[in-house]
Amino acid sequence: MSLDVVKLFKSYYARNTVPPPSSIERREFAFSLFNSQGMFRHIAFSNGEEMNSFLREKVPQHAYYSTAYYSDPAAQDMDEKGWLGADLVFDIDVDHINTPCKVLHDTWRCRDCGAEGWGMVEKCPSCGSERLDRQTWVCDQCISVAREEILKLVDILEEDFGISRDEMYVAFSGHRGFHLHVENKLLAELDQEARRELADYVRGLGIDPDLYIVKARRGYVYRFKPDDPGWRGRIAKLLMLREEAGAELAREELRRLILECVAEARANIDEKVTMDVKRLIRLPGTLHGKTGLKVLKLTVQQLEAMDARSVLEKAIALPDEPVRVEMEKWPKRVLTSVFPDEADERTLPLYLAVYLALNGKARILGPA
Ligand SMILES: [Zn+2]
Ligand SMILES: [Zn+2]
Repeated sequence: MSLDVVKLFKSYYARNTVPPPSSIERREFAFSLFNSQGMFRHIAFSNGEEMNSFLREKVPQHAYYSTAYYSDPAAQDMDEKGWLGADLVFDIDVDHINTPCKVLHDTWRCRDCGAEGWGMVEKCPSCGSERLDRQTWVCDQCISVAREEILKLVDILEEDFGISRDEMYVAFSGHRGFHLHVENKLLAELDQEARRELADYVRGLGIDPDLYIVKARRGYVYRFKPDDPGWRGRIAKLLMLREEAGAELAREELRRLILECVAEARANIDEKVTMDVKRLIRLPGTLHGKTGLKVLKLTVQQLEAMDARSVLEKAIALPDEPVRVEMEKWPKRVLTSVFPDEADERTLPLYLAVYLALNGKARILGPA
């Protein structure tokens, strides 16, 4: 039995209606199709029905829409589209974060010396080469780390910028993380430079600890209180949890503690996505072509009430009928499943088999 992903995706779009993004007539859409190279861009729809008939007919492998609003979103030339503004968007991707579970599911192999191993490495620990073949997977622990990052980000945007969570929504990307979308008329006008400042701020960049400390009798103390606004108060709250910060400290030690607090409180976003005012981003409600999972739209309140496991369970969109799957190097932990023992073949629900086949080298042998 060869895996017919197109048929599975087709059946998904036949059974489901994808909710249109706000101001759909001002958005550009882009798709990549199965068995076809490149991206089909500069597509526009006047309403949700048009968009859904397109999805049912074309069955895209990946579906995106513009965070920007345009007067003519279908114009082929970016300069002729007439940029009217763009949602403020943040991207959190565990690809860049060394989560503790990576030793349980990610593998690498050096193209130069042939060394191989588990986990996330920058370069080959044997020969130092950066030419590595990697196989990466995602599990509920990865998503849990990404979820924490999003909730930190929401707090910073809410407390320091007064952005209401009613103007935000979160999308599980269907793969390795989340997008946070802010739809607000004033913020939509921000240019690239202003968005860079915002991105730097939530990442806690450029904080100079010397401006946060003051000389006391025998050493240095932190200058601000937990209810002070912005990073001043945020750092104060975290320092209160550290016993050593209660006393007067040597300047270097207090500086180090402050930077540790910043590292703990910062939102680990990909700043390139936030700065891009013409970004194409995954369309919630569609399927991710590398996982078969649904791009899942959530309110901030919904995300707060769910754990990572329930996010993944809710993103499962393909059937769960049991199938036999064969693979050489099984991850020990993947999505919501754990495989502590070695095996050549396993019986798994179809949606998991599809993920293992799309993202790796699993072969689906047939029904169990
Ligand atoms: Zn090597
Ligand atoms: Zn993981």
